Amino acid sequence: MSKSGMFADIPVDVGITYEGERIRKPAMHVELGGPDIKEKFELLRVRKPEEVEDEKITVIGPDVDQIPEGSKIPFGIYIEVAGKELEEDMEGVMERRIHDFSNWIQGFMHLNQRDTIWLRMDKKAVKKGLNLKVVGKVLCRLYKSELPIIEKIQVTFITDPEEVKKRYEEARQVYEKRDARVRGMTDDEVDVFYGCTLCQSFAPSHVCVITPQRYANCGAISWLDGRAAAKVDPKGPIFAIPKGECLDEWAGEWSGANKVVAEKSLGEVTRVKLYSAFDYPHTSCGCFECTTFYVPECDGLGIVHRDFKGVTPTGLTFGAIADSTAGGRQVPGFHGLSYEYMRSKKFLRADGGWERIIWMPKEVKERMKDYIPAELYDKIATEEDAKTVDELKAFLEARNHPVVSRWKKEEVAAPTAPAEAVAPAPAATMPQAVTPTAPQMAVTPVATLPEMVVPAGGISFIFKNVKIYAEKLIIRRSKEGK
Ligand code: SF4
Repeated sequence: MSKSGMFADIPVDVGITYEGERIRKPAMHVELGGPDIKEKFELLRVRKPEEVEDEKITVIGPDVDQIPEGSKIPFGIYIEVAGKELEEDMEGVMERRIHDFSNWIQGFMHLNQRDTIWLRMDKKAVKKGLNLKVVGKVLCRLYKSELPIIEKIQVTFITDPEEVKKRYEEARQVYEKRDARVRGMTDDEVDVFYGCTLCQSFAPSHVCVITPQRYANCGAISWLDGRAAAKVDPKGPIFAIPKGECLDEWAGEWSGANKVVAEKSLGEVTRVKLYSAFDYPHTSCGCFECTTFYVPECDGLGIVHRDFKGVTPTGLTFGAIADSTAGGRQVPGFHGLSYEYMRSKKFLRADGGWERIIWMPKEVKERMKDYIPAELYDKIATEEDAKTVDELKAFLEARNHPVVSRWKKEEVAAPTAPAEAVAPAPAATMPQAVTPTAPQMAVTPVATLPEMVVPAGGISFIFKNVKIYAEKLIIRRSKEGK
């Protein structure tokens, strides 16, 4: 697709080649939502045909060209669709397509999903005439051409803070209702799981395996959503995975999932244990809602969410930990996950489940209050209880956290960390780049990367077992922002 086709009247190019385009802070005209803004959302609803005015685009509040350059504002995307064969169950999956369709627009960047969206529009694109009305036009056309089941579509963008706030609450209620549908179902009662490769444009070896008890990493696609998507578009990015033989019931390993993951990751990942962060863990793309991080001194796992602004006890921010987690790799202890997976009875079951969780931001802990076993709730530290690893160890010991009994065993039995835990390797595909710490680089004359992904337009070059030799390495702080 390009300007010569169905987008001839659009002032910028449109095409899959722009997926993966990053807009850095100095180049941005405006940031819509993002980590500095609390209220942001995207929502897609199925409506009756008479409730949708086809291809109507509305902007409530100023459009981007009326917003001062460099602004960061609350933002909402509200899409309504109608079609004879559409069902409410399909909303989540169709909503997720906002991500890739938006990213096909040159000069427009879309990250994350639901109430964590983070968009930027490029200054040059705005000068060429790109604004929200134009984005709406492109979305309407892409939705109807890629998902012909949609007969009518209208798009509303909200930049007015009061209106965003109002609709943000509505959106969160809809997300909760969607998520609740699958609660109570178990992985044992189904014969088919669902896979999703929508994030392969950013993480080429990543394949989500979505089960009733393991929600997708992004928190936007449930097993029911997967079923609806596979039915509507069987050749699309979401597909059925016959479970096959159960190889490890406790850790969640099935031959069918292994086979499909191996095929879809082009042999990069051959085994996945769905309920473990250590032993053949599920891969992580980059748009997970939260991620675990291993704290070797405590032999426990911390959890940090995308909007956490502080520093975890290990001294790392969410961005730095996400760097160690993402990219479609299996990094023991560093495991992208959704809130909904934390509500599952199978949550990291093979690693000890909640008994292995030692730290999380207060906000996440409160959100998960009804799902953390009552006897553990006060034993898990937050940023208010522990700011360093030493403080964390003291807190866990004082509260007699179950993980402390592991230390005692280890004192007798030697190994201090799970056998497969390794230092995370840097990845080249992350949304938030992190600079390697100076001491690591100073003592390492040869840098070895298990994988380096270099995006180039619509394709990616993947280099395996890369070794970089350098006589001298100079690390300079970039004058440019993010
Ligand atoms: S995180 Fe997983 S389920 Fe969600 S869009 Fe990406 S690949 Fe699909």
